[in-house]
Amino acid sequence: MQSIEQHNKILRSDLVQSILRLDGRPYSLKDYPHMILPYNISPSEMVLHFSRQTSKSVTLAGRMVGDAAATSFLKQMYVSPTVDQTKTFSNDRIKPFIETSTWIKNYLVDSRLSQNVFTKGFKNNSKIYLRYALHDADKLRGFSIDKLYFDEVQDLRPGIIEVVQETMSRSHYKKTIYTGTPKRSKGTLANIWHRSTKNEFVIKCQACGHWNILDDKNIGKNGVICSKCGSYKMDIFKGQWVSTYSAIQPPTVQGFRVCALHFAKAPWVSWEKDIIHKMETRPQQLFFNETLALEYDGGSVPIKREELYAASDKNKRLSETPSTLDSCYLSMAGIDYGPVNSDNSNTVLTMIQRRPGHYLVVYAKKFIGKEGDFAYIHENVPKLMSKWKATHIAADYGMGEASNGEIRKRIGHDKLVAFQHVNAQKERAKWNNKLQAYTLNRTEAMTLIFNALKNKKIKFLNPIDMDPFFDDILNIYAEYDEDLGTMRYVNSGPDDFFHSLLYAIFASDMLTGSTMLF
Ligand SMILES: [Zn+2]
Repeated sequence: MQSIEQHNKILRSDLVQSILRLDGRPYSLKDYPHMILPYNISPSEMVLHFSRQTSKSVTLAGRMVGDAAATSFLKQMYVSPTVDQTKTFSNDRIKPFIETSTWIKNYLVDSRLSQNVFTKGFKNNSKIYLRYALHDADKLRGFSIDKLYFDEVQDLRPGIIEVVQETMSRSHYKKTIYTGTPKRSKGTLANIWHRSTKNEFVIKCQACGHWNILDDKNIGKNGVICSKCGSYKMDIFKGQWVSTYSAIQPPTVQGFRVCALHFAKAPWVSWEKDIIHKMETRPQQLFFNETLALEYDGGSVPIKREELYAASDKNKRLSETPSTLDSCYLSMAGIDYGPVNSDNSNTVLTMIQRRPGHYLVVYAKKFIGKEGDFAYIHENVPKLMSKWKATHIAADYGMGEASNGEIRKRIGHDKLVAFQHVNAQKERAKWNNKLQAYTLNRTEAMTLIFNALKNKKIKFLNPIDMDPFFDDILNIYAEYDEDLGTMRYVNSGPDDFFHSLLYAIFASDMLTGSTMLF
């Protein structure tokens, strides 16, 4: 048997249709032309950004069993977040292909090979491992794998993928497929999707000629309609894949989005029950994610970029030197520390001034690259404070304590006010004598700042200069625990500008004994 990878004469889609059986019939992709390309290519990284009811698991299982059959000594591993998901995939997807496909049963398996839920052995020395990794991937470190399949990636911790990919370090193949159903526009799956080619299976309207990327505007009462003219003359079998990425660098991941509308004609999809009824009755977020394969941020995002732009002054650029007007006011500095060279946090310094009716951000700086070095920060921050006439600096306690000591040495002990976020505390802010720092009720303090941002009580410089800092605000989203009835803020990326701003405003209010937050 020849390897698919080395001899592209046999298409994987033809191979699986000739050897695999499903539900008592030959496995067929005849009615799913959009699945042919994702089946046949083998890039080093590929992401399937699919809704529910799109045969995602069957596709993955078909690829795995097909490649195991076609290639000797191939080690493949499937990884999902939970043991239940992995058992379901193994029992309901992999096992039926192996046990009901006559060719596989006759030529590739026998009773001496392991066929348990977590390992499938084949006579050609190929193996399929089925594993899970919820909190960490320590148990997966010892494997030596050629091809990895991560399922339900939206629920996987980002660090797990990197660790598991180490298992391919000695392989000649090194192929990874990620599959999942989207949630928000940030997160493990979203971050992979946004560095992909974002391929869309577009459908041409036979009435007006418009090429449709299927979404909620394509839902007609009785089937898929054109989003432009409303016509039902949409042949979902006759589409083509187009790449929609807008990144400057060509993406390295092949990404495919497929939603339930692409499967409108599949026997397991009822338009009335699965599309119309769900659209009318399910929360919009779930409908967008699970039926349309679209990201949805909705109410979980505390503030939008446009709202921050509306609080920005286009006529005022970020400058390293204060303007004459800036020099008429005293500043308050805020700093939030981040580890050197981290993707998830940087050290950010912010200068605010109290202006009539609002706080104005007059200066901000991210200490990245060489400037992220703490020795540089300790020297630089006092200089910036004197340049911007900052009387005090508000700083995060905790990982900042060594740095706070260094800065205090240079500006005077009582010129630095330390803050520590805590999760459970009745008071909004409270002095903690043991820490020598103020503790803040994290959720309440952050909500106050988000409300002030919405009400334009905090104003900014030109968005061109502020955008990288705005990212730190937009990386924060609210997570609700419906069982406990509580809400907390979490971040998917750096949020240090937000906290440096928060500390500066709280310190400024304490120093002046008044607030403009509410
Ligand atoms: Zn049309």
